[in-house]
Amino acid sequence: MISLTSRDFLDMQIEEFIISSEKVAHVQVGNSAEHALLVLTKTGYSSIPVLDSKYRLKGLVSTQMITDSILGLDHIEYERLPDLKVDLVMQMAPIIHITEKFKKGLDLLINHPFLCVIDDEETFLGILTRRIVLKQLKKHIYLNS
Ligand code: AMP
Repeated sequence: MISLTSRDFLDMQIEEFIISSEKVAHVQVGNSAEHALLVLTKTGYSSIPVLDSKYRLKGLVSTQMITDSILGLDHIEYERLPDLKVDLVMQMAPIIHITEKFKKGLDLLINHPFLCVIDDEETFLGILTRRIVLKQLKKHIYLNS
């Protein structure tokens, strides 16, 4: 059921719900896959953004992407990790522009646990997570039921 309040809710800017970039664990292009694996393991996150030196978003790297890339015929070639750059391992990140509305975030988060938030210059501003959006949705549903 779409009520007037739901419409207002879905039209809210995502900006107020993002986790800002300084609180987001990330790696830089040029870092080794070993470093990325260390950050992923220590933080417990399944994937993290890859940024360049100007804080522009370049991709996403996950533990699975790293292990996939060092998978040999009969063993995982861990010895390759220090020389392997994240640039060769990362994949495209799901993105959303900072000026987008809550509804767009909700739609995209069906297929991704989080979205990378960028501006016109592709500067990384933070992330919008499925957890935060679901929490807001729950609050809204309970308030209006
Ligand atoms: P959560 O909604 O907290 O379960 O987070 C879902 C995913 O978003 C995590 O597995 C990470 O990939 C990413 N994530 C959440 N918070 C952070 C953060 N502070 N730094 C880096 N990645 C994060």
